[in-house]
Order: sequence, then C-alpha cells, then structure tokens
Amino acid sequence: MESVESRIRVLPESVASHIAAGEIVERPASVVKELLDNSVDAGSTMISIDVVNGGKTLIRVIDDGEGMSPADAPLACQRFATSKIRHQRDLSGIATYGFRGEALPSIAAVSRFRMLTARQRALAGTAVVIEGGTVQSVEERGAAPGTRIEVEELFFNTPGRRKFLKTTATEFSHITHVIQQTALANLHTQLRLTHNDHVVFDYPKVAALEDRLLQVYGPRIMAMMLSIQDERTEVHVRGMIVNPNHAKTGRTPQEIFVNRRSVKNTTIAHAVYESYGSFLPKGRHPTFALMVEVDPHEVDVNVHPSKREVKFRSPDLIHRAIKAAVRGPLQKNVVGPASILSPGLEERAPDAVETEKPGQMRMDEPFVKRSAFSGASDMQTGSGRGQGSEAGQVKETPILYPLEPEVQILGQIHATYIVARIGDALHVLDQHTIHERVLFEGLWRGWENRYIQTQPLLIPEPVDVPVAAATPLAEILPELAKVGLDLECFGPASFVIRSVPALVGQMDYGALLEDILEDLSEWNSVDSLDKRIRSVLASVACKGAVQAGRRMEEPEMKRVVLDWFREGSPMTCPHGRRISLRFGSEELHRIFRRL
Ligand code: ADP
Ligand code: MG
Repeated sequence: MESVESRIRVLPESVASHIAAGEIVERPASVVKELLDNSVDAGSTMISIDVVNGGKTLIRVIDDGEGMSPADAPLACQRFATSKIRHQRDLSGIATYGFRGEALPSIAAVSRFRMLTARQRALAGTAVVIEGGTVQSVEERGAAPGTRIEVEELFFNTPGRRKFLKTTATEFSHITHVIQQTALANLHTQLRLTHNDHVVFDYPKVAALEDRLLQVYGPRIMAMMLSIQDERTEVHVRGMIVNPNHAKTGRTPQEIFVNRRSVKNTTIAHAVYESYGSFLPKGRHPTFALMVEVDPHEVDVNVHPSKREVKFRSPDLIHRAIKAAVRGPLQKNVVGPASILSPGLEERAPDAVETEKPGQMRMDEPFVKRSAFSGASDMQTGSGRGQGSEAGQVKETPILYPLEPEVQILGQIHATYIVARIGDALHVLDQHTIHERVLFEGLWRGWENRYIQTQPLLIPEPVDVPVAAATPLAEILPELAKVGLDLECFGPASFVIRSVPALVGQMDYGALLEDILEDLSEWNSVDSLDKRIRSVLASVACKGAVQAGRRMEEPEMKRVVLDWFREGSPMTCPHGRRISLRFGSEELHRIFRRL
C-alpha cells in the first residue's frame, strides 16, 4: 500500500528566515544598507552609524525618524511584517526603500540584535533583544524619539558564513560605500560615520546634489567631472560624468540611482559607455554618478532580494534618454576624440614613415640591454599596468653600455616634444614618456638590487585621500616604504609623506597616491610582490617625470635623451605609451624619393 505521508513540508520558520537571511545579509555592509534604508523610510533627518572592526564586531545605527510603537516594535522583527505595503497592487509604484518586511528578521537571525525605539512624543519606548533569531525580551524602556539598532557579532551562529568575511579594511570600505550611496540619494539627511571610535565623516544635509557630490568625492575628483542635468524628457537625469581627458583605468565611481535607489543596471551603464565611445582612449573607463528619475510605474524594483537591480518597462526609452543627457556635455567639453597617437600617419603612408614597433630592438643601433620590461608586453596586454612581463626573466642580462651616441638637440616643440638628432637619425620624442621610462628603469634597478635611495622631504607633505581608501592605503604602507615612499597616517583619511625616492623630485603627491590607490583594487588578484611594486614604481615615475607643457632647457633635454639611450631606447613608457618617432636616413631618403 502506498504511503499517504506527504514528503513536502512547509519549512519551519527558523529555517525559512535563515534562507532569507542568506539572500539579504551577505556581509556587514548589507546590514548597514538595510538599516539605513529603514531610517530613511522613517523620515530621519540625522542618522549616525558606528562601526567596530569593519562591522564584524558591531554595527550601530541611530536615527531620529518616526520610531515604532510598543505594538509595532516586536512585529517589525517578524518575517513579512512591513508597514509599507498592504496589497499586491501596492507593489507597483513603490516609493519607499523597503517593502518586503524581511530585513530586520533576517539580520536578527544571524546576529545578536538589540533595538530601542520610540515614536515622536511617546511617553516610553520599546527595547527588543533577539539572539540568533530567538526573541530574548521585549520591554518598555525610556528612549529618545527615533530608533537605535545594534547588530553585534554578525554570523556568530553561522560560522561558515563568518569565515567568508574579508579583512576589516575590505568590509569597512564596502560600508563606507553604501553610506555614501545613501548620502547621494538623500540630500536632506545628515550622515555621520565612526569606525573604531574615530569619526570618519560627517556630511551635513545639503540643498543641492552638487554639494553632496563634493562632500562625498572631494574637490580633486570633482575637478575632473562634467556636470549633467537633463530634464527635456520625462526621464530626468542629473549628476556627474568624468571629463574624458581625465578618465582613468579604474572604474570607481560608477554609481547609478533610479528614483533615489542605488542599483546596478546594464541599460544605463551601456548607454553611458556607448556615449563615451571614441572619446575615451583604449583601456580607460568612464566614471560617473547618475541620478535618474522616472515614473515609478516604469520601474520594477521587485526583481532582486536586496533590491539591487531594477527592470524598466521600456528600456529603449531609458537608453535613449541617458545617451542624450550624456552626449551633450561630452561634446561641449572635448575637441576631437582623445587619442595618444594620431592614427592617420600610418594609414596614409604605410611605408613612408617607419614607426617603430614598440619593444622591437633596432639592429642599426648598438645593442644596450633589454629594458626591465620590454615595451612589447606592455602594449599587448592592453593597459600594461601591473601586467608587464615578469622582471625575473631579464634579471641576469648584463648592462652593456654602448658607445655614447652623438646627440644633438634641435629644439622643443609645443613644450611637449623634443626634436633631436641621434646618430644620423631624426627623432621626435615625447618629453614626458621618455623621462618616465628613464625614471622607471632607474627605480626598478634600485628595487632589484634592494636599494632605492630615499630623500626626506624638507617639509612633510600632507595629503588627504577619500575615506574609503584610507584603510586600504594604511595597510600597504610597509610595502610603499620598501621603495622609499614613507607615509604616515595621521587622521582618518589624512597622511603625511615624509620621504620619496631620491631619483624623483617634486611632484603632485596627491595625484601619486590617487594613482597608487587606483591600482590597489587589482592587488588582491596579483600575487607577486614584484608586480605590485612595479605598478607603484610606474606611478612614481609617471608623477615624477617632466609633464607635457613644460619648457625644457637644452642640457636638460640632452641629459634625458642620453639616459634613455643608455636604457636601451625602449619604445614605450611603462604604461605602454609611445616615446619616440624615428626617421633614419633610409626613411628620409624614401620619403623624399631619393632612393
Ligand atoms: P521593510 O523595510 O521591507 O518594511 P524591514 O524588516 O526592514 O522591512 O522593517 C520592517 C518594518 O519595521 C518597517 O516596515 C517599518 O515599519 C519598521 N521599521 C524598521 N526600521 C525602522 C526605523 N528605523 N524607524 C521606524 N520604523 C522602522
Ligand atoms: Mg527595510
């Protein structure tokens, strides 16, 4: 006889909430995000967030919002308890951040959770204590209006998940990121963050988006941005996009907000990338923060458990609107597509001008040595940064100094190019890339010999970095010190530079740190110390080198050309950009049809 016993069971509540918790609470930053969403939904004007050990030990969020009544407080901690929707029809056109009623119970299921909340003008508040999903107590207690939630020892009861938490620095930088997103989307709320009792930032409320962007990104980044404001169609777009001339290899920030909700959205991202098109040199990415406002009925926010994605009813409409909004400021600000090398030259006369293949040794010049990194590998790997060939391969190559070539400096043009005769060839050399390569080779040799001479700065140079970057930077100070960059942390996001490698002189130290930080995101995937150091030294060389636009004196130009020749006349800078355009006697004769 067949068993009548059913094999399908409704999961016990505790199991179900653990599964939900797994979807919503991925890491400390997700807790912060859910709590902030609730505080904003409650109409708070001031929210303070205290975090201990990247949120792994404690997350505390205190707001001055509407609070909860004694009856609602325990209810709020139950699954699917929400004050924000009552009916299925409410699901379309949602205006609040929350609506699923899953956040608080999910958080309480995997932590030691304490909540103290009181309605405005209430006589008393309510304290709720939950440990690993089990309610310990619900009591009446005196409390200020608003809500205060403490989440201690996240994942204490799910050791498997706790193990997956990353370093304090990483978890903390995710937290700063979600708070900054909340700040960008909510101008009228003050947000204050402390980490291990240090104030990390305190953003007062602002009147305009521009003011918020400035608080969050600081003047240095804002100076590289173009502002966007387009309200010509029913799709409103505001925010900032990077001026293509300042685009970097990194991809932060790339923030998208739809109706004040931070989301990932390929329609919008794609429209932005497409707008930049040829405005960007290869390997560079647009950075931006875009606030898009559309009719809420055009957007479905209920497609992801933590609402990180949205779906548009008519993606084409959105795509067009974004392109229209982004194109305008781009076209206004840029004359012609950015390109390192004018492509026309080679196309028009393929054999008239011999443009040397990067990294290829020329046989008619004395062989010197392969540079520490052959330009070829730089070129082939794209940006070349941090991806060059292993230093080890060429370590033993002896340095053979050639006979000093005859170098005659013919002049400088556009305060950017050196025109010189080297032997019997005519060279046009980029003063920045040539100097950059020379500095890099010198620094690299120093590193290989484990001896980089340092030079203390007479006046230590203070530099501020974005708060989210401060902890990761602090963690690599020992590695920076190995190459003569001595930095000291003196404040939540402030450093002083005490010494620099002696080979390089004065430079824009803020820009240097920014460059190093940009590469830092890739360090996790780079195992070899040599490669990390290489990217740091490439940044030092780049920032320490003569910049384009500076007049140079003849002896100075001669020095750098000779140095470059000694380094084996490598054809590209460490980032893969061209150094020289060479016309040998053969090419000249050919061009003038003398052959
Ligand atoms: P949701 O936000 O999806 O409604 P939550 O689990 O995040 O679900 O919160 C459940 C309910 O608890 C909310 O609907 C709201 O009524 C109440 N609540 C949560 N946090 C706060 C807060 N900081 N201030 C006031 N009410 C809150
Ligand atoms: Mg919520």
